[in-house]
Amino acid sequence: MASFFASAKKQIDDIAILLWDEYSEKDRFDKAINLLKTPQHFYQKKISITLDNGQKKSFLAFRSQHNDARGPFKGGIRFHPNVSQDEVKALSILMTLKCAVAGIPFGGSKGGVVIDPAKLSQSELKKLAQAYAGFITPYIGQWRDIPAPDVNTDGQIMAWMLETFEKKINRHEPATFTGKPVALGGSLGRIEATGQGGVYVLKVLAESKKLKAKNMKLAVQGIGNVGYWFAKLAQKAGFKVIAISDSSGGISNPKGLNIDKILKIKNEKGKLYKNITNVELLELPVDVLVPAAFEGVINKENAGRLKAKVVLEMANGPTTPEAEEVLIKKKIDVIPDILANSGGVTVSYFEWVQNLHGYAWTKEKVNQELKKTITRAFDDINKIVREKKISFRKAANYLALKRIIDAMMLRGRV
Ligand code: NAD
Repeated sequence: MASFFASAKKQIDDIAILLWDEYSEKDRFDKAINLLKTPQHFYQKKISITLDNGQKKSFLAFRSQHNDARGPFKGGIRFHPNVSQDEVKALSILMTLKCAVAGIPFGGSKGGVVIDPAKLSQSELKKLAQAYAGFITPYIGQWRDIPAPDVNTDGQIMAWMLETFEKKINRHEPATFTGKPVALGGSLGRIEATGQGGVYVLKVLAESKKLKAKNMKLAVQGIGNVGYWFAKLAQKAGFKVIAISDSSGGISNPKGLNIDKILKIKNEKGKLYKNITNVELLELPVDVLVPAAFEGVINKENAGRLKAKVVLEMANGPTTPEAEEVLIKKKIDVIPDILANSGGVTVSYFEWVQNLHGYAWTKEKVNQELKKTITRAFDDINKIVREKKISFRKAANYLALKRIIDAMMLRGRV
């Protein structure tokens, strides 16, 4: 299987072919495409903490700043044993594309630490967050690079990082981190924003296909921040969620699930009640399959067995390029991550705007603006899908790359 970074670069090359005719200055265009295949800056360091037992332990940490032609770098921080240079670089490319698709004035970045945080105590986790913030402090700032939570990181971790950062720069600068707790300048609606944005996308998609929510069955992989909120809000919007899972397996009921009850039992018992595997969940005969956990879960091994009509990518990079070719042949629409899960970064942008103004919006205002922004992005992409007869992913990448390359040219970078 091609690496995640190689896949991200291939996506850029694929779109370059389609965009070629749009630019008369071919040299400048080629230079821009080449620059976009490497992050502008990449930082790597072994960060150390003292464990509760007094031992010192080091972990490999990364920050990839991909492209900032459209505005400051923006991207989450992931704590996971599978974090790698390759993954962080690929995810930083996706962030540049995602911010451009959403039409928000940011570039893309990503960070991570190679660690299984489940093995750390709360005090060790705090030390890790502080050590990571110390590592990236020279490279971040509200007009430079704005981190946020990602897999296994949350508002509390952002709060610890903000404190470390502000102590080092000796002033308050809350807009440097998003996804903060509301008490520290976080935005109302941020926790559920990625899931909520996905539901808005699904609603406009259903309308464009003249489908009714109540007739649409959904299977969701992942019951973390994204999967839980997506499933809960999709049900509230009238869709029928018939399966959901965590890393150990899933639960399915063709009549529909009570998401809050499932999560409550999982939290009480420490595990999900299960009657299907994650492999089975992905192959259920549903209208919409929603990968909301991890990258690469729809790959060339299982793509041929998928029975969904639409894949809504709430996770980052869940479909490999080889799998997508199979899905296209099977006429399964893939709504790409850079659109489907852009609700998170869009509300992060609103958080940044609120912090810069020192003023907090109501949740209604946040959701109203989110709906407007993500619906406009869907409409822009859908127009390209129809005009150029290309997939949703290609159309989204086309729109994003055009916006990024135009910004690079205007700045005279190429
Ligand atoms: P999370 O840590 O809160 O949840 C991850 C979920 O995936 C958990 O339910 C976990 O049990 C499950 N999981 C892990 N490994 C799995 C496996 N092998 N098979 C099935 N399930 C598995 O993370 P999250 O914030 O919900 O992020 C999920 C995805 O969404 C990631 O790809 C992330 O990059 C992406 N994303 C997150 C946000 C956000 O705002 N949190 C925004 C955009 C994209």
